[in-house]
Amino acid sequence: MIKLFKLENLLRDNIRNIVPYSSARDEYKGSEGVFLDANENSLGSTVDKEYNRYPDPLQWALKERIAIIKKIEKSMIFLGNGSDEPIDLLFRAFCKPGVDNVIILPPTYGMYQVAADINDVEVRKVNLTEEFQIEAETVLQAVDVNTKIIFICSPNNPTGNIVNRTDINYIMDNFDGLVVVDEAYIDFAPSSTLLPELNNNPNLVVLQTFSKAWGLAGLRVGMAFASEEIVDVFNKIKYPYNINAVSQELVLEGLNNLLAKEKMVETILTERENLKENLLKVPAVVKVFPSDANFLLVRMLHADEAYQYLIDRKIITRNRSKVTLCDNCLRITVGTPEENEQLISELKNLPGL
Ligand SMILES: *Cc1c(COP(=O)(O)O)cnc(C)c1O
Repeated sequence: MIKLFKLENLLRDNIRNIVPYSSARDEYKGSEGVFLDANENSLGSTVDKEYNRYPDPLQWALKERIAIIKKIEKSMIFLGNGSDEPIDLLFRAFCKPGVDNVIILPPTYGMYQVAADINDVEVRKVNLTEEFQIEAETVLQAVDVNTKIIFICSPNNPTGNIVNRTDINYIMDNFDGLVVVDEAYIDFAPSSTLLPELNNNPNLVVLQTFSKAWGLAGLRVGMAFASEEIVDVFNKIKYPYNINAVSQELVLEGLNNLLAKEKMVETILTERENLKENLLKVPAVVKVFPSDANFLLVRMLHADEAYQYLIDRKIITRNRSKVTLCDNCLRITVGTPEENEQLISELKNLPGL
């Protein structure tokens, strides 16, 4: 197949022709002045800090910092209300409801299916192999003229592993729709991000997030990296002020504390290996899958029973036993050293067989 990627051809007609909402703050870029344009309360706020002004709709202070840390042009960065926002925007921009389809690779992150369902877009499923790797040729066989997006999650949730780069490259080279690579857990992985591939692959979208390694899940800020052309589409259809002022301030503070992130990642990686070793000594544990993320997929003798046993002891894990290829599996996040110890000491008393 010869790759004929043209963003124009992928866009829904209504999106191609849309005139974006122009917010008051889009027109004047300065920060000094008498602002009588946006019907804000000029007197102040009802809380101690001043939040009476609308935030920067394009979050430039954050993007400038992210551009340096990630070594990428700031025009190639989109920030959303969690990664969930760019996932939804991808459907809204590129997938015609009731007509187009996308491909996902189960077992994988549930949000792709949910966003597809909300947007009335068909989901084609091509399962990963038993080793949770991609069969690239089978994926491409599922493509038809209405296939707009292939979602790849690496490291994958809920399996935890990185998927082989050669398979991602093969799909990018042979599919003329969008390839979305979700790198929510990339900070925990030994192999590197696909961000440098953006320059050679106009059909690539890379998703990352502040919810995992950065420890900022409560602020709801996710990143999408793509060509300026794709980022412009997202900006055209997003809510005007999609990242609130508090989140912008605090994410910037986090970005200026890169060392704290790196230290936490280091601790989590050490703890992950300890946890894995200790889980393997638990009679009720059958298998611990290799992980490149901050969680472990663990096959139990009886996952439902183990899940309930842990709940009764106020330890909450994610029961994935009904998920494709994950029978009898729990997904367990790496906790603090104390939490991991507590988990192990309880699990040791769960009878095997
Ligand atoms: C946690 C997670 C995200 C992050 O979602 P946010 O909306 O940014 O919190 C994205 N993708 C995957 C696969 C995840 O597991």
